[in-house]
Amino acid sequence: MLTKSSNRRSFLRFSALAIPFTQINKLIGKPAPNKPIVVSTWDSGQIANGSAWPVLEKGGKALDAVEQAAIAIENDINCCVGLGGNPDRDGYVTLDACIMDEKANCGSVAFMERIKHPISVARKLMETTPHVFLAGVGAQQFALANGFKLESAELSPDAARTYKEWLKKAEYKPVINIEHQQSRPKEKGHGPFAPNRFDDGSFNHDTMGTIALDANGDLSGMCTTSGMGFKMRGRVGDSPIIGAGLFVDNEVGAATSSGQGEEVIRVCGTHLVVEFMRSGLSPEEACKKAVERIIKPNPERAKTFQVGFIAINKQGEVGAYSVQKGFNYTVTEKGGKGKVINAKSFFV
Ligand code: ASP
Repeated sequence: MLTKSSNRRSFLRFSALAIPFTQINKLIGKPAPNKPIVVSTWDSGQIANGSAWPVLEKGGKALDAVEQAAIAIENDINCCVGLGGNPDRDGYVTLDACIMDEKANCGSVAFMERIKHPISVARKLMETTPHVFLAGVGAQQFALANGFKLESAELSPDAARTYKEWLKKAEYKPVINIEHQQSRPKEKGHGPFAPNRFDDGSFNHDTMGTIALDANGDLSGMCTTSGMGFKMRGRVGDSPIIGAGLFVDNEVGAATSSGQGEEVIRVCGTHLVVEFMRSGLSPEEACKKAVERIIKPNPERAKTFQVGFIAINKQGEVGAYSVQKGFNYTVTEKGGKGKVINAKSFFV
């Protein structure tokens, strides 16, 4: 005679033949991965995701999707990414970017001038050389040798205006004005997603980081920025540093960051987020733990800056967390419409 449990076993065996794989995954407690999916920092992530999604939707690679995301935002005129971004305190726009794929291949460029798409230079470096990181004139030389065009050194009209304002006091303030970020206007005359520059230049960072899981289940990411506005000449933040501004581990997940790069570098921020996910934390919990790690050594100092992390795991679950209120991110998945989500924060 069949016992109750052997009845159940044969039922499951039988039903396994008749129901789709996704349902079986649910039955055994592990939902099928939510893929493809792409996540970017900030509401300007709508521009980035808008270019990444068509690649993912067609079954393309996450690596190609994140490169397209970067190109779109580097083309956009905004304060903090690409040649239209704010200059350093000597008046030069210097760009930082990195890219990483599912096989731990990575490429970075930093302190690079007059090249429109640092992300594609980083990818070229990754794919055609044994190196990972090029900086300054060397990065520019590599770009020129590979067919990238030398662009004008002139500042964009927005950047020129903001720089002129900044020069009136020329105060070196690497610290984000948090109140401005929290109340930043939605439209301010620089296009729908470029309201991040204030007339006094005090809100001056908004790096674009994008992480994606493709239909094949592979992860990739990118990070691109003109860095902190009015920074010291030669200063490089977290954005082009693998493990700080971006980290991808195809077995676990991916993370990227925005905000005051020095604070992210101190803790190898995105590597930390991925390692927290490896230990079993959800993307949001992992981002939160990394934020707490940044704050812990000096909670007073932490009141003066912003850092935000976004993360995605192998299941396509997404999360974020920031030091201050005001950080948001854009998620695009089935249906292709980007959804802007406000991140939870340590200080509320
Ligand atoms: N993380 C960038 C940097 O420190 C700045 C930013 O996110 O705006 O260069």
